[in-house]
Amino acid sequence: MTAMSRVVIIGGGPGGYESALVAAQLGAEVIVVDSDGLGGSAVLTDCVPSKTLIATAEVMSEVRAAAELGVVIDEDAGVSVDLATVNARVKRLAAEQSADIERRLIKENVRIVPGFGRLAGPDRVLATLADGSVETLEADAVLVATGAAPRTLPSAQPDGERILTWEQVYDLDERPEHLIVVGSGVTGAEFASAYLALGIEVTLVSSRDRVLPGEDADASQVLEDVSIRRGMQVLSQSRMESVTRDGDTVTVTLTDGRSVTGSHCILALGSIPNTAGLGLEEAGVTLDEGGFITVDRVSRTSARGVYAAGDCTGVLMLASVAAMQGRIAMWHFLGDSVHPLNLKRVSSNVFTAPEIATVGWSQQAIDAGEIDAEAVMLPLSGNPRAKMQGVRDGFVKLFCRPGTRIVVGGVVVGPRASELIHPISIAVTESLTADQLAQAFTVYPSMSGSIGEAARRLHQF
Ligand SMILES: Cc1cc2nc3c(=O)[nH]c(=O)nc-3n(C[C@H](O)[C@H](O)[C@H](O)COP(=O)(O)OP(=O)(O)OC[C@H]3O[C@@H](n4cnc5c(N)ncnc54)[C@H](O)[C@@H]3O)c2cc1C
Repeated sequence: MTAMSRVVIIGGGPGGYESALVAAQLGAEVIVVDSDGLGGSAVLTDCVPSKTLIATAEVMSEVRAAAELGVVIDEDAGVSVDLATVNARVKRLAAEQSADIERRLIKENVRIVPGFGRLAGPDRVLATLADGSVETLEADAVLVATGAAPRTLPSAQPDGERILTWEQVYDLDERPEHLIVVGSGVTGAEFASAYLALGIEVTLVSSRDRVLPGEDADASQVLEDVSIRRGMQVLSQSRMESVTRDGDTVTVTLTDGRSVTGSHCILALGSIPNTAGLGLEEAGVTLDEGGFITVDRVSRTSARGVYAAGDCTGVLMLASVAAMQGRIAMWHFLGDSVHPLNLKRVSSNVFTAPEIATVGWSQQAIDAGEIDAEAVMLPLSGNPRAKMQGVRDGFVKLFCRPGTRIVVGGVVVGPRASELIHPISIAVTESLTADQLAQAFTVYPSMSGSIGEAARRLHQF
């Protein structure tokens, strides 16, 4: 591919901006068309804001647990959160991160076109600018990375004041008296856990028999037990039928006729792809029945020269996966060496208290017979560092193949599990054996000592 290849990217989230950086590095002329601000939902409304809010929630959890460690907090002084200050910080950090990304792209000579992009064939993008004018952008390759938006229902419409999508929660200036979170997937569980830690009464409405139905069952059980112990009301097997507002109260009615009333409600009902009205099907791009763009493992769509990355493909809705899909697309198109996307190497984390981090093959897949693997699970309560820190909840789980002893997956539940999963992630990516993982020194005392210990328990003489 020559240095003159022109790549047009629609969408400036992680799928879009990370691929722009790769394409620029490989010598292409790069244009990013973005309608809402660089960084996308990941930076402006989803990951960055939620994890900033959760940073405050973590401090509150630690403060509450501090008495056990001998810290005396004056009863009269109390500890509380000023939600308006927290939200102002959230928005400031998000805006700064977006500006950082914009500066970086400009430095790499990426042209940014603020506007709404759509395809006019596989090699042409029309960008509608703020003044209504339309710019035509010819392209040797197009990358569609338009993301997804919160799903709502006709019977549960957000009003931006008391019935909220996750994008609207940062406009709350006052603490909700009683927050109802509808949906117990990752987003619902994270918000329920965070607001509970901020000292707000929380009810979590879950249509399934447990929270986080997609995660490791032992991990979900720990989270549910801890959440209930800390005062969360968890309504399982409770399917929401409607959400209505009457003045200062919000009522969530369930399909079995029960109802729960609170002051605010967050809808965490999943996402729908931003793929309508983009001229995709007309350009030969196949969508599935949910409207997600069908891609292969190097991010190619069914239209030659059109790639897609991120939430609009529905592959695994994570910022890290969006970015990797985008990079892979550019490596592939511009002729660099490329490894197809391997979802069995993705490490991910649920930022609840405790955190739940996973990588590789799951317990569900092992139980379903999709892979033959042995498991070992060590509770963190036996870990010396955990005892010192007053940590009782959580565990480390490792999976390895019976014959080769190669580590194929793992789960960590505990504080900062998102950091602790990394050695297991390296083991899975590099196909290390449990013995090789066990050979690495861990600091004494440390939480990671439990990973070394779990690996030792998988040793076969
Ligand atoms: C509450 C929440 C928390 C999350 N936390 C995490 C986390 O901690 N870690 C993690 O890995 N993932 C997290 N995710 C998932 C993550 O946010 C998404 O996977 C990620 O944003 C996907 O990136 P993307 O580039 O595909 O899309 P986006 O980030 O949505 O970016 C797409 C961009 O394209 C723009 N756009 C759309 N249509 C057009 C158009 N026609 N023309 C021009 N521009 C357009 C959009 O406005 C947007 O700016 C979270 C999600 C939610 C909902």
